[in-house]
Amino acid sequence: MSTPSRVKVDCRNTPSESNCSLAISGTPEEVLEAAVQHAKSKHGHEDSAELREWIRSSWMEDPS
Ligand SMILES: [Zn+2]
Repeated sequence: MSTPSRVKVDCRNTPSESNCSLAISGTPEEVLEAAVQHAKSKHGHEDSAELREWIRSSWMEDPS
């Protein structure tokens, strides 16, 4: 499995009560860190291996 050079996570694709529409795109490292911070500050998640694994499984390749 190859790692794409740019990925994107979109909160609109994830179930949440906050109707969050944030989209984060960048390199996988950037997106992972930004998404963890966002999940903690806006969605009340704990920074955990499970959260990081979930982010990795939910991002899409961003061809832009
Ligand atoms: Zn969000």
